[in-house]
Amino acid sequence: MKHLFLTILAGVSLLATSLSHAAQMKALVIDGQNNHNWKGTTPLLVKALESSGLFKVTVATSPAKGGDMASFKPKFSDFEVVISNYNGEPWSAETKAAFEAYVKNGGGFVSVHAADNSFPEWKEYNKIIGVGGWGGRTEKDGPYVRFIDGKATKVMDAGRGGSHGQQHDFVVEVRDASHPITAGLPAKWLHVKDELYDRLRGPAENLTVLATAFANPAKGGSGHHEPMLMAIEYGKGRSFHTALGHSPECMKCVGFIVTLQRGAEWAATGKVTQKVPADFPGADKLSIRD
Ligand code: ZN
Repeated sequence: MKHLFLTILAGVSLLATSLSHAAQMKALVIDGQNNHNWKGTTPLLVKALESSGLFKVTVATSPAKGGDMASFKPKFSDFEVVISNYNGEPWSAETKAAFEAYVKNGGGFVSVHAADNSFPEWKEYNKIIGVGGWGGRTEKDGPYVRFIDGKATKVMDAGRGGSHGQQHDFVVEVRDASHPITAGLPAKWLHVKDELYDRLRGPAENLTVLATAFANPAKGGSGHHEPMLMAIEYGKGRSFHTALGHSPECMKCVGFIVTLQRGAEWAATGKVTQKVPADFPGADKLSIRD
């Protein structure tokens, strides 16, 4: 009897070990330079990712501006998903090549808010994020992507890439409920006061608009339904782009947290196994986690 009990105990502990191994993917958050409060937002990204139970997160912090960028060489291929909270100086040719190869060969990538301001001159990065803003981006960099008459539309008007009005609460509208990231989310949900990026533009190849927000001209916005959540395929890799998340306060919105968790899982595996939590915001109800 004692022997049987020990055997069962050993079996249970083996099962628990194998489950936790199966569940924990390696995620890398990149920061170190950003015109946003990256020291405040990175801990919230780590917390959101780890609280899903799916990820063990490492943070790679680049040298400060003006530092030795050649020394910044994260080993992307050690990770299932790389999350960028970085908007700063160009990476070395070696690091750029390693990043491109990582995504092309099936690695996952997540671009958070101003990470899509980064690297305006780096063609492959812009394909991986789909669209970006600022940094001199114009019509030379690709179309605007707007939601018009029920579908994502590439608009080749001349003009700047990237702008925003004043910060406010806004409704995020799911535009593709069949995608694993957005499947099961409410059709509309209220996002906490954030900076609503508009006029993003870029190659927009293999890009699916998952959710949009209306950039209200009364708040200084473009007057268009602008992409907030996007999924991009690049080689064998997958990229999830969230334009949300200007500040730590914005990242406490359950809508931000949950779409980050689901986007990171999809980027890593192509699937989403997470359930939508009961505290997900509603069309006129904010939901904040502290
Ligand atoms: Zn911002």
